[in-house]
Amino acid sequence: MTRDTRQMSPADRLERLLELGGGACAWCGFDLSKPQARPTRDHIVPKIKGGPTRLENEVASCGSCNAKRGHDSPSQFIESSRRDRGLEPNAALVADQLDSLDAAIQREGGMRKIRDYVTREAKRVRALAED
Ligand SMILES: [Zn+2]
Repeated sequence: MTRDTRQMSPADRLERLLELGGGACAWCGFDLSKPQARPTRDHIVPKIKGGPTRLENEVASCGSCNAKRGHDSPSQFIESSRRDRGLEPNAALVADQLDSLDAAIQREGGMRKIRDYVTREAKRVRALAED
């Protein structure tokens, strides 16, 4: 049986997100275990677009990337980070999270406002991961 991730506390989610991302910022790869790091939970589907606050819609991010991203879609931010900042975001991780979110939507229903966005971004980010 799948554990219901909706019951996880923010601290537990952050811990799990750090594990999933190998302790690095999903966008720039910064080591979030460093003493000066301030790990954050970044919404993959932005809150303003209706993205839920839950494990499947988050990645561990440094504060700088989280602020810089604003409301960009994940595929836009991966592309601009590559182009403008010379970074290699962890697109495979973001694609895996989008797949998990898509599976949660199938399983639980609801989240109608974001369904198309999740399907579209999952495809785009997966393609970017395979570039
Ligand atoms: Zn970062």
